[in-house]
Amino acid sequence: MYPTDSRENWYSGQGLWSDVPETDWQDYRWQLRNRITTLEQLRSFMTLTAEEEAGCNFANNKLALAITPYFFNLIDREDPDCPVRRQVIPREEEMFTAPEEMLDPVGEENAMGVDGLVHRYPDRVLFLVTNVCAAYCRYCTRSRLVSNAMGYDFHPNYENALKYIEEHTEIRDVLLSGGDPLILSDKKLDYLLGRLRAIKHVEFIRIGSRIPVFLPQRITPGLQDIFRRHGPIWMSIHVNHPRECTRELMQACERLSFAGVPLGNQSVLLRGVNDSVEVMRSLVHRLLMMRVRPYYLYQCDLITGSRHLRSDVKTGIEIIRGLRGHTTGYAIPQFVIDAPGGGGKVPINPEYVTEINDEQVVMRNFEGARYEYPRTQVPEFLLV
Ligand SMILES: *Cc1c(COP(=O)(O)O)cnc(C)c1O
Ligand code: SF4
Repeated sequence: MYPTDSRENWYSGQGLWSDVPETDWQDYRWQLRNRITTLEQLRSFMTLTAEEEAGCNFANNKLALAITPYFFNLIDREDPDCPVRRQVIPREEEMFTAPEEMLDPVGEENAMGVDGLVHRYPDRVLFLVTNVCAAYCRYCTRSRLVSNAMGYDFHPNYENALKYIEEHTEIRDVLLSGGDPLILSDKKLDYLLGRLRAIKHVEFIRIGSRIPVFLPQRITPGLQDIFRRHGPIWMSIHVNHPRECTRELMQACERLSFAGVPLGNQSVLLRGVNDSVEVMRSLVHRLLMMRVRPYYLYQCDLITGSRHLRSDVKTGIEIIRGLRGHTTGYAIPQFVIDAPGGGGKVPINPEYVTEINDEQVVMRNFEGARYEYPRTQVPEFLLV
């Protein structure tokens, strides 16, 4: 009934860069040095649409253009609607700010304990350790500071942030994000993870990173060693479309898993990228094949210039409905809206309970059939 997602034809190879020595291709520093960052470079590789040309001209005032050669190969250069292309190549629509859009859509600036440390929830903090990424996602919720195109001048002071975490003994959970934490040198990561691990009340350390997706070459034996030494370190990667699930990503996930890093995935629901049950089903199945558990599916934040990429909340609900019961619960992410202005993540679910009365719960299963389950009323004589 459902097509299976065979691993056989997952993309792999050097594509446009087939004449580059493999040792260079596999070297993450080479990938970073050879990123596509200008309109002229893009033009030399492909024909851009008029909308993309205009978007590229505007990008340096909004969110820089950068694409690693590895990730660029995943773009279908013949297809202006390619789901990979839409994520990383700027478009004219980014210049339009819809009335509901904001520069800081989830109110992070107002929830900072110290610069770069967002303390919104009681037991955990979001530690922004850099404003640099391997490549830039056009819908990034932190466009205001990431890549510094808007001149935010982000200079996190690690010592201040670490001191805040040390002093706040209620913080049991630290999430490193940015920008992309894996852009930091091994030395800096080693230092940060070592400092965090030394704090007695910090029980849970995780990293949010899209580098396994943009730059799988960064997952080196040296990095594996750091994760092994400071583990358990958890990681949330960020894959939006099954085409991103390449052999290279699978091998990077393998290296992370073998270094003891449990992997989750965060996707953003994006119009024309992954806003259908078919695409999401293929994505979550490929993730499971790579040892990655789908964690969150985000309704796209109201970041400025993102309306063309946002889909309707109802689409997200219908995608979850289309997965639940039709495939394993392991494959199903929690759909959330990060509440505008700073309310945190709110789970958004399809409704399965049609009624709760004094006697019973009435519900519908994944096929729409009606079922009843009695309310539990413990008789008096059983209560001690
Ligand atoms: C998403 C987020 C977290 C982590 O939330 P989890 O539900 O634990 O994954 C923590 N702090 C902030 C500010 C966040 O946005
Ligand atoms: S990798 Fe993450 S932080 Fe960087 S641009 Fe993409 S969404 Fe934003």
